[in-house]
Amino acid sequence: MTIDVRFRGPADLHLHSSRSDGTEHPTDVISAAHAHGLRTVSLTDHDTTTGWSEAAARTRELGMTLIPGMELSTRYQWQSIHMLAYLFDPQDADLVAETERIRADRLGRAERIVGNIAADYTLTWDDVLAQRLEDATIGRPHIADALIARGIVQDREEAFAGILHPRTGYTVPLYSPDPREAVRLIRDAGGVPIMAHPAPHGRAGMLPITILEELIELGLAGFEIDHRENTADGKRALRALIKRYNLIVTGSSDYHGTGKPNRPGENTTTEENVAAIISEGTGTAPVYPPDA
Ligand code: AMP
Ligand code: ZN
Ligand code: FE
Ligand code: FE
Repeated sequence: MTIDVRFRGPADLHLHSSRSDGTEHPTDVISAAHAHGLRTVSLTDHDTTTGWSEAAARTRELGMTLIPGMELSTRYQWQSIHMLAYLFDPQDADLVAETERIRADRLGRAERIVGNIAADYTLTWDDVLAQRLEDATIGRPHIADALIARGIVQDREEAFAGILHPRTGYTVPLYSPDPREAVRLIRDAGGVPIMAHPAPHGRAGMLPITILEELIELGLAGFEIDHRENTADGKRALRALIKRYNLIVTGSSDYHGTGKPNRPGENTTTEENVAAIISEGTGTAPVYPPDA
């Protein structure tokens, strides 16, 4: 394969800003990535593309390449599955409608969760809204931040281990499309679907291989293998699939500012794999540095 030399490595294609549940403005996320030595990045806020233009302005200033992206919420049975989507058309009507539906349900769901928590703790909906930038995709991390502000927990980690853990009974599930539908939507919008943190520790674990093969058949492009939440066993099984089906493999940080310990560039994606994403993506172009 001829590698497109206009982009620059090292690459970290999974970063969150305050347009979803990261703690920094898109401009500052890109600056942080640059300071950590990255030169090709993707801003992948949950179910929204509102950070793209600000991120692109900053990558241009810093001589970096931006691969526009998003992390789409999906659900298989009771299991939350995150699908990274790169280089799709942000105006695609079906994908826009689906992300709007998810974001609307995130609002109602967060309000219901807060209602449940308020039965036992002093927490209001306004507390949560105060933690969220206008229009940001709302999620449990904003509720966690409100619990921190109230002095009920120390950090997001403690909130997710306790009050926000599904087994505690306060949370309610989020409306999300089936991952098969998500792959179809992303491909139909010219995008490249890569499954985020596909082999997490804990009760959820990896989807059955038969389902993964069905997703690959439908157009799943690859897996985010190098991510701190994947287990060693899961990564081994996924590498076998990647080899068998000649898929893309990525590595990323899933940076959330101060919301998670993850640092930009703690995992990276190789030039070959960045080039493969660029060659498969037809919905929007990468934003190259001005002199490329
Ligand atoms: P939600 O979108 O409401 O389902 O919340 C999921 C988000 O919470 C994901 O984007 C994760 O990055 C974040 N999250 C999950 N567990 C933790 C944790 N232990 N600490 C900080 N953030 C977390
Ligand atoms: Zn997140
Ligand atoms: Fe995720
Ligand atoms: Fe993420």
